[in-house]
Amino acid sequence: MTDAEDRLRGIRQQVASNWQLVQDRVHEACRRCSRDPSDVTILGVTKYVGMEATSALITAGCFQVAESRPQSLWQKQEALRSAYPLLKPEWHLIGHLQRNKVRRTLPLLHTLQTLDSQRLAEQLQADAASLNLTVRVLLEVNISQDQSKTGLAPELVASLVDYCINAPNLRLEGLMGMSTLGGEELLVRREFASLRHLKDQLCDANRSLELPHLSMGMSGDFEHAIAEGATMVRIGSALFEGLVE
Ligand SMILES: *Cc1c(COP(=O)(O)O)cnc(C)c1O
Repeated sequence: MTDAEDRLRGIRQQVASNWQLVQDRVHEACRRCSRDPSDVTILGVTKYVGMEATSALITAGCFQVAESRPQSLWQKQEALRSAYPLLKPEWHLIGHLQRNKVRRTLPLLHTLQTLDSQRLAEQLQADAASLNLTVRVLLEVNISQDQSKTGLAPELVASLVDYCINAPNLRLEGLMGMSTLGGEELLVRREFASLRHLKDQLCDANRSLELPHLSMGMSGDFEHAIAEGATMVRIGSALFEGLVE
């Protein structure tokens, strides 16, 4: 075996074992709060790694992946298509989308998890209509005490929900949020619970509204997020631990 093949095999094994470990932790977290593990999707965040580790993760069985930067999503998807044409994961964007990048990004997206303004929603609707496609969106809500965090203030969410409901090319599927980085368990749990309460309030106020997804929890806090009702956890570093690329 050549060095390159050896290296690639090492990456595959490490990533597959991490993937299994993260799945086990998700199952255990679900068991502790009597939830069905099939109600929690693991989104693999590939922003830290290159093509080899990204393809290794998808090959291991993680079919929903995410990038933070639109340019990285374009590049990775393109590279994956030429190097691994059989791998066709669903791509999520979990970082800020600039309005001038909407048109190029839309056809590549399964879900935009970071809709955070009316202006962006209007751009998405206009471009999705002209491309004749529908885009799934989650509203990113600022639930943390951390001032640097992005997302809509909770009190502004209802009006953006109204806009989305009436936008024919947007399909609103839920809310996304991040807890205070390195926050104590009690604080983090309270923040995740606030996102769940907000979703419940929105659904109570509009009986025809269905918001199936609560995207919350990352490598450091996904167990707490699952206990508070997450349906999607966004995992990066835990999936790529121990990797020497
Ligand atoms: C990077 C990132 C993640 C994954 O973070 P890890 O702590 O590495 O699991 C999840 N969500 C968002 C929005 C991110 O930017």
